[in-house]
Amino acid sequence: MLKGESSKKHVTTIFFDCIECGACAYVCPSNIPLVQHYRFAKSEIRNEEAEQRKAAQARERFEARQARLAREEAEKEQRRKERAEAAAREQARKKIEAETPSSDTQDTEAELKKLKSAASIARTKLKKAMEALKNAEEKGLDGAEKLKETVAQLEEKAAAAEQAWLAASGAEK
Ligand code: SF4
Repeated sequence: MLKGESSKKHVTTIFFDCIECGACAYVCPSNIPLVQHYRFAKSEIRNEEAEQRKAAQARERFEARQARLAREEAEKEQRRKERAEAAAREQARKKIEAETPSSDTQDTEAELKKLKSAASIARTKLKKAMEALKNAEEKGLDGAEKLKETVAQLEEKAAAAEQAWLAASGAEK
């Protein structure tokens, strides 16, 4: 504690030790109105302390407000950052979705491929059966009748497969 502060505290203690009985007014050879001086000094000290308390409370309120504003600003910034990240994620998801064919599209394409392949296989089988029938008829081989039935069946199958593929590819387009 500084010397000045120590003296002030000492004087303050003396002031507040005075019970304001007024006895000193009668014994002071210089007739100094000591009680009034002490009373005034105590009142000044009380006022000063009250001002200091008020100033301290105002400072606390100011600091609390500053801390609250800083906290709110940080929270706002955090929310803004989270919104920006969410928007970026959503944009990336949409981009991927736009660039990747959907599973429905993939399924349809696979199905079309299958139908096209089935039609091609059916045509090849029919062609082979027709060649075998031609060969059997030319050479008068046994089994030509049976081959005719097979060719007829394969013609139906090939036509059906072709039709299925055309219908599916037409629907897709
Ligand atoms: S008024 Fe004077 S005598 Fe009475 S307590 Fe105070 S200083 Fe002492």
